[in-house]
Amino acid sequence: MPDERDSGTDAGWKFDNSYARLPETLFSRVAPVPVRQPGLVLFNERLAASLGLDVGALNGPEGAGIFAGNLVPPGAEPLAQAYAGHQFGHFTNLGDGRAVLLGEQITPTGARFDIQLKGSGPTPYSRRGDGRAVLGPMVREYIISEAMHALGIPTTRSLAVATTGEPVFREEALPGAVLTRVAASHVRVGTFEYATATGDRAALTALLAHTITRHYPELEGAENPALALLGAAASRQASLVARWMQVGFIHGVMNTDNMALSGETIDYGPCAFMDAFDEATVFSSIDRHGRYAYGNQPRIAQWNLARLAEGLLPLIAEKEEEAIRLAEGVLGKFADEFQGHWLEGFRSKLGLFTAEAGDEALIRDLLALMKDSGADFTNTFIALAKGDTPEGGGWTAWMDRWKARLASQPQTESEVIARMRSVNPAVIPRNHRVEEALAAAMEGDFSKVQRLVQVLSDPFAETMENEAFRKPPPSGGEPYRTFCGT
Ligand code: AMP
Ligand code: MG
Repeated sequence: MPDERDSGTDAGWKFDNSYARLPETLFSRVAPVPVRQPGLVLFNERLAASLGLDVGALNGPEGAGIFAGNLVPPGAEPLAQAYAGHQFGHFTNLGDGRAVLLGEQITPTGARFDIQLKGSGPTPYSRRGDGRAVLGPMVREYIISEAMHALGIPTTRSLAVATTGEPVFREEALPGAVLTRVAASHVRVGTFEYATATGDRAALTALLAHTITRHYPELEGAENPALALLGAAASRQASLVARWMQVGFIHGVMNTDNMALSGETIDYGPCAFMDAFDEATVFSSIDRHGRYAYGNQPRIAQWNLARLAEGLLPLIAEKEEEAIRLAEGVLGKFADEFQGHWLEGFRSKLGLFTAEAGDEALIRDLLALMKDSGADFTNTFIALAKGDTPEGGGWTAWMDRWKARLASQPQTESEVIARMRSVNPAVIPRNHRVEEALAAAMEGDFSKVQRLVQVLSDPFAETMENEAFRKPPPSGGEPYRTFCGT
């Protein structure tokens, strides 16, 4: 249903609303709630252009109105999606409590992307929440999601941050903001859990078909589509989490509602990048038992996929026992698949082109050495690529083994260096740098955020511009803590 607040110009919007055509149990039609004073503080012009949007028209008051939720762009049919999820292991009914999906933008190349406003006001799923978001966490998502994209890791993107001119009351009054998120889709593991929990088989069937069409068209016509989807989604997660591990990324809140069927990284809350290597690293203040610690991420991904399997069981086979047997067969492949990606990823980080039996031990011993010496994860690989011995002691024996291993393959030294350079980032969103940029943003100065986003957009090069951003935080400070930002 078109909204009477349609914006005047078309600005390149070309919406289709396939989610809005699914059974109504899966969502609620609800428009963003207008805010007092929209202000466009971040606008991703390159992303806008790639979506087919008119950058000139949107980089001003019209864009502020749209990205704050005061104007609904033409063709959008806003809705809040229903979903459930296991949060820290416990099942809860959730849904978009502070977000609306405007619709799906069809790009000039025919690709389809969800355009979602996050922090856009209450919805039927808000429970006791106010539907709003605080500026800091929205800017944080903007910075880190764009950094992940530049690292080549599948992720949702950030198109804009608009301030609302309204305070949001948490422990104190904080400035409110809306993030415009661009995603392959927002179908989550929790969306399937929700559809199954409602007992609405038609909705579950339609969700399955929608997900296959959008993300796995090659599975159309599969003999057992639900089982095929489970396997394909598991493969993408195995690859995704391996990518996270290779850059030291810790998602922080891998609840099943924060795992997307598209295989993109989604929901940047308490996530952060590790400095000194330690498998047990946790940043999130609410993750007291380290459920979502760096080293647990593959296990948790598999646990979440088991919840997806449960969501799909009714469509896998009529008899539950049979469905479970089939699902277990598929999920049983996850660990090996992850391990394959992990090995392949760390081999390239070390400049290895070939595969040898001792490679895993070489990698594990490197990680153990890093942990013992307190070495910085990112900078260790950069040092190795330069032929330098990383900081801390005890490296000689390991360096000799690695050099011998490099000598056992036919590639030249320059080929080895090029490979290492192409996968080992020189610059990541260092926590102290992110905090520094956010602190300035809270004072209304977005230049530090702009600069950081700019530096992070070219992560593999060592440049004069990014030199200061490559340094680990000064040692001896308090351990870094992140918060959910709700
Ligand atoms: P998240 O921690 O962002 O993944 O959110 C978990 C759930 O809480 C989702 O269903 C959100 O929509 C909901 N939620 C988070 N913050 C708010 C808020 N301020 N108002 C309403 N719902 C919220
Ligand atoms: Mg979430």
